[in-house]
This record gives sequence, C-alpha cells and structure tokens, in this order.
Amino acid sequence: MSGTYDLAVVGTGIVGATAVALAALRHPGASVVAVCAGAVHDGSTVRSLAVDIPAGRTERQRALARRSLDLRAELAALAPALNAGSRPSYWVLPDGGAAAVDGRLVGDAVRPCDPGQGAALRAVFGGAVGAAGTGLWRSAAATVSEPAAAVEQLLGVLGGGAPGGLLGAGPGAPDGDGPRRDLVEGFAVRRIEPCADGHRLVASDGAELTARRVLAAPGAGALHGPFAATAERLGARTKKIVAYRLRGGEPGGDRPLLVLDEPDAFLLPVGSGSDWCYSITSADWDCPSERGRLAPDPADRKLAEAVLAEQLPGFRTEFTGCRTGTDLYLPDFAPLIAPLDGLDGAVLATGGAGSGFRLAPAMAEGALALLGLA
Ligand SMILES: Cc1cc2nc3c(=O)[nH]c(=O)nc-3n(C[C@H](O)[C@H](O)[C@H](O)COP(=O)(O)OP(=O)(O)OC[C@H]3O[C@@H](n4cnc5c(N)ncnc54)[C@H](O)[C@@H]3O)c2cc1C
Repeated sequence: MSGTYDLAVVGTGIVGATAVALAALRHPGASVVAVCAGAVHDGSTVRSLAVDIPAGRTERQRALARRSLDLRAELAALAPALNAGSRPSYWVLPDGGAAAVDGRLVGDAVRPCDPGQGAALRAVFGGAVGAAGTGLWRSAAATVSEPAAAVEQLLGVLGGGAPGGLLGAGPGAPDGDGPRRDLVEGFAVRRIEPCADGHRLVASDGAELTARRVLAAPGAGALHGPFAATAERLGARTKKIVAYRLRGGEPGGDRPLLVLDEPDAFLLPVGSGSDWCYSITSADWDCPSERGRLAPDPADRKLAEAVLAEQLPGFRTEFTGCRTGTDLYLPDFAPLIAPLDGLDGAVLATGGAGSGFRLAPAMAEGALALLGLA
C-alpha cells in the first residue's frame, strides 16, 4: 500500500470504529486507514449485549461514563444503531445496598419500586423476586445499542467499503476528491517500526503500510504482538464474559432489564417474545482471545443456574444458547489509554473490562487526545 496515512487505526471493534469516526468528523482533511486481523466483526464487540447503565466504581470510570454519554449522543447522528433502544431498568439489591449503587451511578439514583412496579416484576420473574434480605429498586431506563450495525455505520466514514461489500458508503463518506480513507481486512499487525514518515505497520503476511500516527484498539489482542509489552507492563489480563440465551416468563415487548447487583449479572429482554440474554461474570481469567478457542464450560453454566436459583427461584427458564467473548482487564478495571512503549505517536486504547461498549466513545477520544487529534 503506497502513501502515508495521517492516522492508522488498528482494530475495528467498537473502540477502533469510534476512533475512526471521531477522527474523520473532527479532522475532515485527514487520511485514515483502519485495519483488522480478520474480518471486520472478528472481535468481542459483535458478541456484546451493548447495554449502557452509566456507572463507574472510581471517579475516573464515572468521568469516562459521563463523557461517553455525551459523545454517543453526538455520534448517534452518524450511527443510529448507537442508542437504538431503551429498557426500563430494575434492580434486585441486598438490604442496605442502595447507597453503594447510588455512589456508582452517573447522574441518577435508584428509587424503591412502588407496589405496582413490584407486582409487575413478580408477574414476570416469580413471587420470590426481591424477597428474603433483598429489595426491588428502579433507575432511569438503560440504553441498548446494536453493536454490529453501530460498527458498520461508524466505519461508513471510510467510504471505500470492505471486500464483499459489508460497508456501504456511509453518510460521512468522502466523495472522490476527499482524503484517502481505507479499510483493510486480514491485516494482522505483527510489528510497528519507526520510519521516516512516522510508523511502518507490518502484517503477519508481510503486507505493509505507513502512517504518521497509530491508534491501536486491539481489544483482548493487546496481549500479543507489538502491544504486548505495554499491556503486560500495565498488568492487563484477559477474562471470559458469558451471556446465555434463555426463554422464560410471559412474552411481551415492554419487559424490563433486571440487574442482579450482588452477583454482577443482568437479564436483558430480547425481542417481543419470551427470550432473554442473561449476562454473568465468569471467573475464567487468562483465557485465549481468539474466538474459536473460547467456549462456555460447565462451571459457567453451574454458576449461572445457581444465581438464578438463589435470586429468582420462581422464574422458570430454559437455556437455549450461549455466547462467549474475551475482554481485557486492568488491575483497577479502568480502560487502558496510554502511549505504546518506545513508539512516539502511537497509542493503545483497550481494557473494556466488560464495559467497553459503553465506554468506547471516551476511550477513543482519550486516545485521539494523546495523539493531538481530539
Ligand atoms: C457476551 C458479552 C457481553 C457484553 N456486554 C456488554 C454490555 O452490555 N455493555 C458493555 O459496555 N460492554 C459489554 N461487553 C464488553 C464489550 O463488548 C467489550 O468491552 C468491547 O466490545 C471491546 O471492544 P474493543 O473495540 O476494545 O475490542 P474488540 O471488539 O475485541 O475488537 C478488537 C479488534 O482488534 C483487532 N485486532 C486485534 N489484534 C490485532 C492485530 N494484531 N492486528 C490487527 N487487528 C487486530 C481485531 O481484529 C478486532 O477488529 C460484553 C462483552 C461480551 C463478550
């Protein structure tokens, strides 16, 4: 590939795609290339439930959550699949647990359910929901995005489209006289080397391209190749995330999202039937980042069933499927936004820690700021 791009973005998950869109919107004259190791949707983003309940355990996480809300509202004009839907949100909290949740929420607080709301929840989840040492609470509606469509719409600013025509020319796509904007699939970056024009990116098949600045958003792939030294030095580890598909309760389009706070799980209604996605935190650390090598194991299923049995004993469900993905976690569970060791003008933005979809706008903006492109 000849010519030097102003910016190369490595990774076309939600973080990389958001960085591409923000860079194109804020620097209309900049030439941008996005590369991904396999096909566009080969990372964790496409498996995400893409729920946003704006919250954070630390002040920095809350600041990123707040900023992401604003940026996503701005980006939704380009990518309507962001914030595509919303769900009324309810919580099962241990007695005395509301203050801690309030401390985490951004611009919101939980309120006790009124008798009508409690009865409606019991009608869906069984009579024991919120009983025995727990209570039922509600918060503002959670937004839910459509991850694959959002990525495609954000990458629409690249214009040229992926081989096979995955991406049409998006609303922000340049016309023939605009700056060069390319998407290259199957470009697994193995090395990044300083060169006269900035950086040379070398792929595992020997293909090369050059860019003045590099924003690497490789998700859990940060523990490999040219990102590994920085990610390992900062203590990054991979962890599995599991979301089961369930069928249970009465069908209906206005079913709520239910957060089971203490076991760090939630139930998200899907469609207008009686299907749910049930997200549960797996205890499986240091798992492989490649999708094909990842599978749910009996321990995940046992944990998922035990949480349901304890918190929602009257909710009769049938497990109908499962999706798994890997995410990168830093020791403080905050995203990693940092210069790449030994490379001026190259940064790393990863470490979604199970919240990377909702935090992606602020992660991408923070990385662009390190490159002087915010
Ligand atoms: C089941 C599940 C449910 C989830 N639910 C939620 C949720 O409700 N809300 C929420 O906020 N988050 C959720 N998450 C987490 C969220 O999906 C992730 O944090 C987020 O998608 C990570 O995005 P990313 O762009 O960092 O990485 P990814 O989407 O994994 O993308 C990484 C990209 O980098 C590329 N790449 C990697 N290495 C290289 C290389 N060497 N060369 C070239 N390209 C490379 C890959 O090809 C890929 O394109 C969930 C995750 C899972 C698995």
